[in-house]
Amino acid sequence: TVYYYKDRFLKGGETPVPVEDRAFNYGDGIYEVVRFHRDRSFGLQEHLERLRDSAEAIRMALPFPLEEIESIVRSAVSQVEDEVVDVYFQISRGEALRVHPFPQTDPVLSLYARPGRIYTEDFREAGVAVITLPDERWSNCYIKSLNLLPNVLAKQAAVEAGAYEAVLIRDGWVTEASASNVFGYHDGVFFTHPANRHILNGITRRFLLRAIQKLGFTVQEEPMSEEFFQNEVESAFITSTTMELMPISKINQRELHPLGPESPVWQILQAFRTL
Ligand code: PLP
Repeated sequence: TVYYYKDRFLKGGETPVPVEDRAFNYGDGIYEVVRFHRDRSFGLQEHLERLRDSAEAIRMALPFPLEEIESIVRSAVSQVEDEVVDVYFQISRGEALRVHPFPQTDPVLSLYARPGRIYTEDFREAGVAVITLPDERWSNCYIKSLNLLPNVLAKQAAVEAGAYEAVLIRDGWVTEASASNVFGYHDGVFFTHPANRHILNGITRRFLLRAIQKLGFTVQEEPMSEEFFQNEVESAFITSTTMELMPISKINQRELHPLGPESPVWQILQAFRTL
């Protein structure tokens, strides 16, 4: 086998990037992103359990027990000096001759830890614009799979439209966004898509559901119709590990009112931070 990477042929045995890693060739693997504030993680257990569930869903063994993955993650975090650290870790089905069926090789963990991307409070108060786009993904979006091409294309279309995120519409219903979950607020009630095969059940989403309930607001895990989301919601926001809760300031052409500190969305962000 002769391997070539970037601008040169690789010498015998040298594999800075294993050219036949199945993550590379097929997107055959899964991943997680976890945020740490010093050594305190946000929902590490939930992320590890979701990793285990994703692995099971694609019939892939984990290279190490969850506890060992946890200690590798913690060790990586401890090597970054910053206050906020994001860890990305993925498990590929391994390196093997490129044929579709599962290989005999062992799965491979790869990981990086680096300073977390922090959004300023000014950025958050201004909120972000979103556009809506058709959800062109497969029917197993609950798996945190490495296959992110539809997500990448949707996000790029949003950026090219001057927006920050693409909210995805499947059969007339809002599912989630390209890299975040979506919540809407109308008439005292919060709405978000139920955790089924059509969305990734975000860990941030789960914590926010708890924060909303803790504050005594009503929340319905029911999909919003495209029409309701576009025309009716009073406020809306997206959630993810790195963004936490990010208010939406504009849905396509419709501007949403800026949120004051007394607004339910702002209260929920504060409650979320003290969970
Ligand atoms: N939905 C999608 C498609 C995502 O890629 C992500 C995170 O990257 C989320 C939702 C949010 O998940 P979490 O809150 O676990 O970061």
